[in-house]
Amino acid sequence: MQDTLFNRLDDAATIDVTVLLLKVIGTGVSLTLLIIAVVFALSQRGQRDHQALVARCFALANLFAAVYVGADAAVRVDALLGDFSGTLFKIQLALTATVLSAAAYINLYWAMAADDHLPRAKAWTLYGTATLAVALLWIKHPSLVIASDDLIVKGMSVFADYGTLTPWYFAFVLTLTSIVLLTLMRSPQRHIDRTGWRLNLAGFLVLLAGGVHDALRELGYFLLPFSTLSFGLVCFQIGAFGFLASHYARTLRERTRQRQRLRRLNDELERDPATGLFSRRYLQDLLDRKPASGRGGLLFIDLDNFKSINDRFGHLFGDQVIATAAQELRSQLRAVDVPCRWGGDEFLVYLPDTGPEDIGRLAARLRDRVTALRFDSAPGLSIRMSMGYSGLGADGWRASVARADQALYASKHRGRDQLTVSASDTTVELAEPHD
Ligand code: GH3
Ligand code: MG
Repeated sequence: MQDTLFNRLDDAATIDVTVLLLKVIGTGVSLTLLIIAVVFALSQRGQRDHQALVARCFALANLFAAVYVGADAAVRVDALLGDFSGTLFKIQLALTATVLSAAAYINLYWAMAADDHLPRAKAWTLYGTATLAVALLWIKHPSLVIASDDLIVKGMSVFADYGTLTPWYFAFVLTLTSIVLLTLMRSPQRHIDRTGWRLNLAGFLVLLAGGVHDALRELGYFLLPFSTLSFGLVCFQIGAFGFLASHYARTLRERTRQRQRLRRLNDELERDPATGLFSRRYLQDLLDRKPASGRGGLLFIDLDNFKSINDRFGHLFGDQVIATAAQELRSQLRAVDVPCRWGGDEFLVYLPDTGPEDIGRLAARLRDRVTALRFDSAPGLSIRMSMGYSGLGADGWRASVARADQALYASKHRGRDQLTVSASDTTVELAEPHD
């Protein structure tokens, strides 16, 4: 039958080196995309997340597509050289790669549309079916796809001697291709980038047109003097690549936004919003991670008679006093010190480098600076504060906090506006502040 079909062919039109050149360029593009895909998949190696799976699926799909485009070009080279010893194998390889790349692209789109990992059963069924279809290509029998070792050559177009199953086979590949299209059509409803999706769809339509054109050629209708499937496949690969690139760009944007949100949340957990000091939780976590023994200590600070400030000037003004005092404390501490708002008008400062011998000087400075603060809406108001200090002992930071708290209580008990150092239980009377 094909002989009569080929009789209708114009020899001059089919023997076209330009077509061969286009196929070689197509192979180059296809291989470049494959290399990018493989490098990309390798860069995700070791990661077990969804994006790594998508990268692997894409690399595999590109591998099969590149094999098809390359094998197709190799067939034309055989035709040019007139050496057909390995041509049937190349045709079989090209057909095999077509089926596998269709399956791999379906799997890729499933993976992209899936929220998490693709169910293994789905992928296995897909590749199982594709493998069965591939097996049919390698058994030569008149009723199967490849009928014999014979080739039908006309100019640079080389056809295998197709068996009776061939139309069904093409129908099967068309069904697979339709699934690609349907999967693509469904994708935008999910978290998929629209621009990339359109690009991929455009590539797919070129592929479909190329496939239909070649199928018509097989049936004897020659619209163009050369086969167009590999050109269509390269266009499809480029579209799919654009799709994946935009998908990743979007994912990256989402990840960055998520990371920023997480950082903000973390900041909120770490900081006391009213004063800008560290939160109690942050300091507790920090001390939990610190080795039990070591230098340094904890200074508890509590504003004196703060309730009366609230009562006289109002709660909002009280808030302002707490924030201003906190800022002043912070400005007097070193970068290694960790001041936190323990609660209400209480502050706890972790002083990693300050031992009992230095605490008197530091406490006096802190008290002086806070006492020197002035408020426009409450002229004459001067804030005082009591303090309790404890060095960090081997019995853990919680015990030190308890000792500093007791020391603070002692300061309050003894008349406020002073520091008590826990280890020695000495009270340090702070000199009158110099305003
Ligand atoms: P003392 O000298 O014994 O510390 O007396 P005090 O009045 O400061 O009493 P205490 O430290 O026990 O209580 C602090 C008060 O501060 C209790 C509460 O009404 C008030 N307070 C706690 N948190 C805030 C806040 O965020 N803003 C304001 N305006 N007041 C607060
Ligand atoms: Mg107080």
